[in-house]
Amino acid sequence: MFRVGRSRTGLGLFATRLIKRRTRIAEYKGPLLNAKEAERAENRGNRYLFTINSRWTINGTPRRNLARYANHSCNPNADPIIKQRRIFINALRDIQPGEEIVYDYGNDYLNNVIGRSNCKCSRCRKRRARKARERRETMKRKAKRKSKRKAGRSPAKKTKKTRNKRAGKTVRSA
Ligand SMILES: [Zn+2]
Repeated sequence: MFRVGRSRTGLGLFATRLIKRRTRIAEYKGPLLNAKEAERAENRGNRYLFTINSRWTINGTPRRNLARYANHSCNPNADPIIKQRRIFINALRDIQPGEEIVYDYGNDYLNNVIGRSNCKCSRCRKRRARKARERRETMKRKAKRKSKRKAGRSPAKKTKKTRNKRAGKTVRSA
C-alpha cells in the first residue's frame, strides 16, 4: 500500500492506493534496546531510535524497517501506536494515493533534532510562505505611504488641487 520515494527531505513513504483511516500501514521494526543501550546509541548519533517507554527503545536503523522512511509532519496523516513492545504506524485519516505518509515525531525530536524553524513539513512551509508574503505586503504598504507623502509635497499635486478648486467655483457660480 506504500512505496519508498523521493521527498522534500530525502526519502519518504508514499501511499500507492487509498489507505483508509485506522489502517495499519507498517510496523516500526528493529532490535529492542534497554535504557542504557538506547543512551549509547543516541550518543553515537543514531536518529532512528523510537522510545516505547522509560525502559525500552526500538532501534529502527535496519533497512528492512521501511517505517523508518516515514517523515515527520506537524500536520500528520498517520500515528504511531504502541502495543506491548511493538510500534505500528496507523492511518489517522484517509490517505490518498500518492500522498506522503507522515506522522508527528513529537516535541522532543522537533525541538532538539529538526529544530522548529527548520521543519520542512507542508504546514511549516505554508506558514513560512504566508509570513514572507505578509512581510512583503507590509513593506509595499510602507513604500506606498512614503511615495504618497512625497507626492503631497510635489508642486504638480498642488496645481491640480488649485485647478480643482477653481473648477468648483465655476460650477457653483454657473
Ligand atoms: Zn512542521
